[in-house]
Amino acid sequence: MPDGRLRAPLAPGSTIGILGSGQLGRMLAMAAARLGLKTHVYCEDSGPAFDVATHTTKAGFADRTALSAFAKVVNAVTYEFENVPLATAGHLAALVPVRPGTKALEVAQDRLTEKIFLTSLGIPVAPFRAVASEEEARTALAELGAAAILKTRRFGYDGKGQISLAPGDDAAAAWAAINARPAVLEQRLDFAAELSALIVRAQDGALAVYDCPINVHQNGILHRSSVPAGLPADDLARARQIGAAIADALDYIGVLAVEMFYLGPETAAAERLLVNEIAPRVHNSGHWTIDACGVSQFENHVRAVAGWPLGSTARHSAAEMTNLIGAAALDWHQLAREPGLCLHLYGKREARQGRKMGHVTRLVGGASAPKEKGKAANRSR
Ligand code: ADP
Ligand code: MG
Repeated sequence: MPDGRLRAPLAPGSTIGILGSGQLGRMLAMAAARLGLKTHVYCEDSGPAFDVATHTTKAGFADRTALSAFAKVVNAVTYEFENVPLATAGHLAALVPVRPGTKALEVAQDRLTEKIFLTSLGIPVAPFRAVASEEEARTALAELGAAAILKTRRFGYDGKGQISLAPGDDAAAAWAAINARPAVLEQRLDFAAELSALIVRAQDGALAVYDCPINVHQNGILHRSSVPAGLPADDLARARQIGAAIADALDYIGVLAVEMFYLGPETAAAERLLVNEIAPRVHNSGHWTIDACGVSQFENHVRAVAGWPLGSTARHSAAEMTNLIGAAALDWHQLAREPGLCLHLYGKREARQGRKMGHVTRLVGGASAPKEKGKAANRSR
């Protein structure tokens, strides 16, 4: 498979390989099953996706024998997390199409590479400095001269690997707290809102874009995503354009999520939206698409990976998705009683603190959740 392209769409009955066994893999496998496609999940550890996939392999990402065997029995490969080692993706890509592809992985795995890439496309990001030593951490904090966040370049997620700093704070202590790992120091923005662009791009370059949700984080973890976002239409169009430009630049295949900060109407239009980070995969802020759209982000990702025509990204309802984190999922019985509530549980056994156990989506505008109706109507006006 020298260029990684599919010659023809994968027919129902074909198998999509998924690297990673988390809830995103689980929802991808469920969407694939709906289209008559089989899935084969490959991961070092068994996880929620193992419960619903057609086949599973539990083996290391450096195990070339196991990877080659996996490549033989799948028709295309995708991944549900961005820290798939490049060597793993490269090994597979020589044998079978791997989507979205290694370039997207390379960019998204490293915050510094990502910021440089975005800047090269003319897309604004928060002011930042690369930090590779204690001395550089000190200089960077002095240069930015504002509240800032020291973030490890690699392996951060859900706010992990991040230390907040105020001007004059002890940069050396922050550097030690991230275990002296290569990092970026970025200015802490006083944003009006966070939102994300959810793009899906097909092998032939066709693009479809979901409505941008507004995202609220708590302790660095996504808490809630809502659509419609209720921001000015021009700004939302710009957010979608930024997402599309990134997908095109990466020659991307599948769903791409772009997390953004919205600085508000007082800021010049061209600088109002800054990209925080990109996720080369389906994204938590797109879970509402399962219940509020005819074709979810998961199905559209599968369609793109399988070389199918993309499905409509149109939304039939306003929606509010809330993550069930840690003990919040223990209320499942109560939640199951709520009329019109769409309940999703990932089947994880231990409700550890900070762990994403499931999510709920409340639809507004259909027959459900009448008490939310007025609120959404105001927002969408
Ligand atoms: P992760 O990879 O853990 O998602 P992010 O860089 O997206 O890391 O940070 C998690 C959250 O922390 C963001 O969604 C946002 O709420 C907050 N945050 C991150 N960077 C900044 C910043 N520069 N200014 C203000 N808040 C930030
Ligand atoms: Mg993030």
